[in-house]
Amino acid sequence: MGGAEVERLIALLAKLPGLGPRSARRAALRMLQQPETRMLPLATALTEAARAVKPCSICGNLDSQDPCGVCSDRQRDRSVICVVEGVADLWALERAHVHDGLYHVLGGTLSALAGIGPEDLNVTSLLHRIGDGGVTEVILALPATVDGATTAHWLTDRLKPLGVNVTRLAQGVPIGGALDVLDDGTLAAALRSRRPS
Ligand SMILES: [Zn+2]
Repeated sequence: MGGAEVERLIALLAKLPGLGPRSARRAALRMLQQPETRMLPLATALTEAARAVKPCSICGNLDSQDPCGVCSDRQRDRSVICVVEGVADLWALERAHVHDGLYHVLGGTLSALAGIGPEDLNVTSLLHRIGDGGVTEVILALPATVDGATTAHWLTDRLKPLGVNVTRLAQGVPIGGALDVLDDGTLAAALRSRRPS
């Protein structure tokens, strides 16, 4: 229905998180009915974002400036680094306004099953940042999964000898839960009542 262009559009939309084939079809139809006001601005926004947005060379956040907006904000507490699995978690913590320090995006968690080892994660750059001095606390805001816990243990062993306090999120993060699905209040409570790792 609609020709090859429409099929291709629907197939691409259906790959987006939260959109199945049915909602992809609805979104495509809505756009096609108003190409000038909905579709072309979206196409422009997609192209511009794809060209402009890159990982921050310090923390791994995605931003159109490098260093990212968080890293270049001089008002933030540069003595605390919050380590997260992915950019979605960083954005969730920013949305909740619960952390006024800096971040470090690991890009995953250790997983024997998936064959993800320390060399696959942004660990070296984290150790360098701490080695540069000025950091007194590292908060491990990793998911409450087996892999998240394994990663937290592994990181704690490497960070403690560098003389920083290593803490992790307390209760409130459901087992198996990703941070970015938590409501802001739960996230704030988990961060506020963090404990030594
Ligand atoms: Zn950054």
